[in-house]
Formats: sequence, structure tokens, C-alpha cells
Amino acid sequence: MDEIIFDVKNVTKIFGETEETKVNALKNVKLEIHRGEFTAFVGPSGSGKSTLLNVMSGFDTPSSGHVFLSNKEIDKMSGNELSNFRRDHIGFIFQSYNLIPVLTVKENVEYVMTLQNIDKDERDRKVSQYLKSVGLEGKENRYPSQLSGGQQQRVAVARAMVSNPDIVIADEPTANLDSKTGTDLIDMMLELNEKFGTTFIFSTHDPIIMKKAKRLITLKDGQIVSDETK
Ligand code: ADP
Ligand code: MG
Repeated sequence: MDEIIFDVKNVTKIFGETEETKVNALKNVKLEIHRGEFTAFVGPSGSGKSTLLNVMSGFDTPSSGHVFLSNKEIDKMSGNELSNFRRDHIGFIFQSYNLIPVLTVKENVEYVMTLQNIDKDERDRKVSQYLKSVGLEGKENRYPSQLSGGQQQRVAVARAMVSNPDIVIADEPTANLDSKTGTDLIDMMLELNEKFGTTFIFSTHDPIIMKKAKRLITLKDGQIVSDETK
């Protein structure tokens, strides 16, 4: 558990140009995420969860401070360097699944590996391994529109994990799912965390789901106000 995946050093994020529009979305946030952790970001709407995830994954740049992912300073990267680094190190799961509608389940899961020039046999092997581990064996040739929301999000989990990223980041992955389906999804992510050792960070405001996290980080007004590991 000692390897540091993310090192967030004194990160501040200010939105808005003028005094009236200025928002201090993150205030001097310090955080280390270690390999293998299963962490939830919680806190009221507007507390900075999405901003922190966006800054950590390089979708947004901090106003001050630094973010290291696998010892590389992601906030200093841009363009192709940033997109390639992100592709190779982070798997993303989105609130609204974001599968590619014209691609089958198999093609969606395989897509990143085709960009990484992984050969066909290896791609096939990994797609079936991960589809099996998310309980979607036999659904390879379906299209996203032929699946339920819960099944689509399981495809998204397989897609995020298939190229063995250092971390999987999910901003409110259960927000579009009913409570039971959402809880089942988090239970499945937890099993995958234990089985493959994949590091996960997700945000949620569902109290049932936050209880599943092994580490619970609470944000309020852009600051970490508590950080508990079970
Ligand atoms: P959460 O995900 O916890 O609901 P956010 O990170 O989305 O919170 O938002 C934190 C604060 O930053 C809020 O006050 C929000 O209005 C503000 N904010 C977020 N994104 C922007 C933006 N692009 N422009 C201006 N303000 C923003
Ligand atoms: Mg948010």
C-alpha cells in the first residue's frame, strides 16, 4: 500500500475573473492516494469534488500547487503528451456512461487498446477477461442502446480497467442509476479492487454507497475536512 499514485500538493483552484464572479473551488488541498486504495470523495454539492477530480486527471489546471500522477507532474503537461499520459495511466467512468453508440460492447472495451497498438489476440483475451469479470459474458456483440443503464456502466468499468491503468476515476458513477443498481455497481468495483488490486477514486453523495469505501474523504467549501480509512 505504500506506492503513491497521486500526490496532490497545495492545490488551489479559483474560477472567475472579477471579484464578484470569483469562486475558490479548491483551497490548499493536500492529498496522497496509494496503490490499491478504494476511495470515495463525498461532501455537499459545490464542495469541490468534481473540480478536484478534474485537476487530478489533467482536465483542469490548478491556479496554484502541483499534481503528480505516478511521479509525473500532470499539471505541467498539455496537448498530445497529456492525452497520451492520461490514456495510459487513468481509466475514466462517467456519470452518463459515455459509451460510443455505434460500436459494440466488445469494440467499446477494446478501443483504447487499439490506440495503444496492442495486437488482436491480446485484445481479444483481455476483452473477454474483463467482460467476464463485470458479468457481461455473451454480450460482446450488443450495442449500448440494447443494454440497461446498469449494464452500460459495467461496460464502462470494463473499458476503464482493460488496459491496466494506475487508477480508475469515476465522478458520480451511480448518479443515473437506481439505488440498488448503483450499490451493485460499487460492490462490483470493490470486488475488482480486491481481485486485481486496481486503485479507484469515485465521488458520490449517496450515503449507502459512501459506506462501501475503504477510505472516505469529505470535502466542504473546497477543503478536505475529514479523511478516514477503515
Ligand atoms: P461538486 O462536484 O462537489 O458538486 P464542483 O467541483 O462542481 O463541486 O464545484 C465547486 C465550486 O466551483 C462550485 O461553487 C461551483 O459552482 C464552482 N465551479 C465549478 N466549475 C466551475 C466553472 N467551470 N466555472 C465557474 N465556477 C465553477
Ligand atoms: Mg460534481
